[in-house]
Amino acid sequence: MNYTQICRFFTTFLDLAEVMGNNGRVESDAHLHLVDLAEREPSFPSRLAGRDWAGAVVSHDIAEFGLSEALRKSLPPTVAGFGIHPQGLREDTMGFLASLAAEERIGFIGEAGFDFFGDMPERVRNDGNLRAQARCFEFQLELALRHGLPLLIHSRKATDLLLSYGRKFSRLPALIFHGWPGRPEEAHAFLAKGVKAYFSFGTTLLRDARHAVESCSALPPETLLSETDAPWQPPKGEAWTKPCRIDDVTRKMALIRGLDAEAMALRLRENFDAAFGRGTR
Ligand SMILES: [Zn+2]
Repeated sequence: MNYTQICRFFTTFLDLAEVMGNNGRVESDAHLHLVDLAEREPSFPSRLAGRDWAGAVVSHDIAEFGLSEALRKSLPPTVAGFGIHPQGLREDTMGFLASLAAEERIGFIGEAGFDFFGDMPERVRNDGNLRAQARCFEFQLELALRHGLPLLIHSRKATDLLLSYGRKFSRLPALIFHGWPGRPEEAHAFLAKGVKAYFSFGTTLLRDARHAVESCSALPPETLLSETDAPWQPPKGEAWTKPCRIDDVTRKMALIRGLDAEAMALRLRENFDAAFGRGTR
C-alpha cells in the first residue's frame, strides 16, 4: 500500500465511523426545523448523509418554506409540512398553506394547535386568545380534512380543548402530537374516540421528565414516535439540539419500553411511515 492508498483507507474508515456512530441503526425524526438548524449548524446535512434516517420537517413562513425545500434536497428522505403555529398566529399565510395542500406539495399540516402556557399575554387562556387561536386551528383542521392530510399538533395546557375536536379528528388519516405534553389517560381518551393518534417524544425524555416517561411506557407501541425538535429543546448543557440526538431518544425509549434499541428503532420507523403515510402518497 502506498501513502495515498493508506490515506484513502483511513479517510474511508473515518467517514464510516461517522456514519456508523449510531451502530447503523434506523433513525426516524418526527419533528425538526431545518432552517433554524442550518443557521446554527450549516454542515448538518453531511452528518445525516448515508444514514438510514427519515425526518418530518416543519415551516411556518413562506421564505422559510423555500429554504427548507432547498435543504431537503441534500438530505435522506423527508416529508415536509407547513403550518400556522399557535405561538405565531397570522392569517397572511393561509392562502399559501391552502395552495400547498391543494397542489400536494406538503405531506402534512402543522405545527398547528393551542398554546395556553401563560408565559406571554397572548398565551393566557381567555376568551380573546381562545377565539384567535381557534380560528387559525380550525382553518388548518378543515384543510387537513379536505385534503386527507395528517395534522401535526403543538399543544400546551390545551389537551382538554383538543379533545372536544375528537369527532373531526377521527376523520383524519393521522393526528400527530409533537412533544406529547399530556398524561397516558389523556392520550387514551383520544384513542377511545377513534382518533388515529400518534404521540411523539423527544429530549424531555433525556432529562427524565415524569409525564413523558410515564406516557412513553404506557401507550400502545403502534402510537409512539421519536423526535428531536432540532434545534429547539436542547438537552441540558447544550446550546441547541443536534439531529443526531435522535439516537439517544431512541435508546431511551427502548430502555423505558424494555426493548433492545434495534427493535425499538424498527418499530419507530414503522410508526413514522404509518403516521406520515410515506409510500402511500
Ligand atoms: Zn418544533
